[in-house]
Amino acid sequence: MSSAEISSPRALSVGIIAIDGPAGSGKSSVGKSVASQIGFRFLDTGLMYRATTWYAIKSGVDMHNPKAVIMVASQMEVSVHTGEAGENLIVVNGEDVTGFLHSTGVDDSVSFVSAISRVREMMVAEQRSLASEGKILMVGRDIGTVVIPNAPLKIYLTASARTRAVRRHRDFVAAATAAERQKIDFEEILRSIEKRDLVDSSRTDSPLRPADDAVVLDTDGLTLNQVVIRVVELARAGI
Ligand code: C5P
Repeated sequence: MSSAEISSPRALSVGIIAIDGPAGSGKSSVGKSVASQIGFRFLDTGLMYRATTWYAIKSGVDMHNPKAVIMVASQMEVSVHTGEAGENLIVVNGEDVTGFLHSTGVDDSVSFVSAISRVREMMVAEQRSLASEGKILMVGRDIGTVVIPNAPLKIYLTASARTRAVRRHRDFVAAATAAERQKIDFEEILRSIEKRDLVDSSRTDSPLRPADDAVVLDTDGLTLNQVVIRVVELARAGI
């Protein structure tokens, strides 16, 4: 395949499932499980924006200074690997940084980093390249609208902000030590989700929105397993 064909979304439209949706909508858990059931690779594109944010924080960069963020983003070497459970592992300049990418510091700054067009260009080029072999399920905010607009199956997962905050809170509590658990504040998680929703959906470049031809699944009141079953059905019917 020539490089022009690789960067053309049309050439990537076979064997690609795009799942988009807001923070905490269950994209990653659903996507990972569906991908393993149908034998697709899984790519969580949010981790790529998170890795850039983590690296910018570590480099002491002001997130509101796009030039400085672009400079550090272009200096980092990021690679995405697949772990034993099908999860993504993110390696930055040779170091596995996956465990650092869901900190509150990254959560609070990632939407500013991902609103920078040059950062998005770099990420989207890498995501299209990773998708070029097909048989991949990608989750993010703009997969169906920008990254792979010709994907044969596009799903938009959503749920109320409160439901999503309840899920995030549950995940944080499950992963925390007893001492850390005391400091987890539900209202703070809810505020952080609402703030990210606002910045992600109001940015000018690739705002969060369902593609016109996406299947919208409202997951309020559904269990993870119910959503997975529905998406597997859609995947089997649509691919
Ligand atoms: O999905 P996750 O919550 O990990 O994504 C973190 C952030 O990365 C989002 O809030 C959004 O700002 C950004 N993002 C994006 N485009 C994507 C994936 C994530 O802008 N395709």
